Amino acid sequence: MGHARLETVSESRAAMNRFLLIRFLAALVCFAVTASGRAEAARLDFLEINGRLHVDLLAWGQKQGFRSRWNPRTGELLLTNRWARLEFKADTARMELDGVVVWLEWPVLKDRDRPCLSARDLESVVYPLLKPSKLPPNRRIRRIALSAGHGGKDPGNMEGARQEKVFTLKLAQEVERRLRAAGFEVVQVRERDEFVPLEERPSRANRRKADLYLALHFNGAPSGSGSAQGAETYALTLNNGHSTNGGRSSGPQRGNRQDRENLLLAYHIHRMILNSVGLADRGVKHANFVELRDTEMPAALIEGGFMDNREDALKIFSDQERGQLAEAIVDGIQAYRRLVERGAGE
Ligand SMILES: [Zn+2]
Repeated sequence: MGHARLETVSESRAAMNRFLLIRFLAALVCFAVTASGRAEAARLDFLEINGRLHVDLLAWGQKQGFRSRWNPRTGELLLTNRWARLEFKADTARMELDGVVVWLEWPVLKDRDRPCLSARDLESVVYPLLKPSKLPPNRRIRRIALSAGHGGKDPGNMEGARQEKVFTLKLAQEVERRLRAAGFEVVQVRERDEFVPLEERPSRANRRKADLYLALHFNGAPSGSGSAQGAETYALTLNNGHSTNGGRSSGPQRGNRQDRENLLLAYHIHRMILNSVGLADRGVKHANFVELRDTEMPAALIEGGFMDNREDALKIFSDQERGQLAEAIVDGIQAYRRLVERGAGE
């Protein structure tokens, strides 16, 4: 495991870490000053574990005014305050915010019987979701791009005679109707059963200057065993970060300019899907998907259940149930919009 305190690492590494630490501390100070008006609340201790900076979650939680319940035996940590409930578990990258699963980049570690979160996860995953008011304000959300997965020669997942491309298009049209009724403009990346290459999809949304981009898909287990089920919602893998299902970012992409917004959008859509559709929670995940890499606006990719799972299939193939999924997606967009449009003019 190679646990080492900051002082014991090699000189160059220590210099690099000091640089990162200072940069990170500066961000935290700004954050704490504006959040609480008290600069002294900003001091945090960092430790290096496995070559990465970590924050002691108990100390951090206390400074943020959370009540904490930590069980060193099970590795479970619960942090609660009036506004949020955070759950972590040592040795896993699975976190819950208000009951919704979010995947961190790195597992939470135990160091001297205390739970430690990578500084990067704190800065790039936890803060954007916990403190959306720190995002730049005045983002107007009016035009939504919908990318119905697959089409034409590409059927997507197949379940018997049912093709994913048919149901993603139906869902896109159902979302569009509801968005228009709520006063949004809609850009459909494909309007019919046509093949649109992945690379072309973000360009269509970029050309039309959409404010948000949503890719719509349904899952299928590679084995076709039918045992996997539930919804998962993807944001682009963070700049120089790790994807949830393996692999990593290939350097900064256009979509990385919106890392924080991407995550916030994915989270709120995912939350609404879980609340109203009753799909199992597979979490908000990070992936390096082409559709998310080249978008110039915040983007998320929704996998609205597994076509080869009995329970999920009932929801995917029923017009009424799929209508509820469409409704949830619109609710998620509205929730996101309320958070980022603070003080925005018409
Ligand atoms: Zn698909």
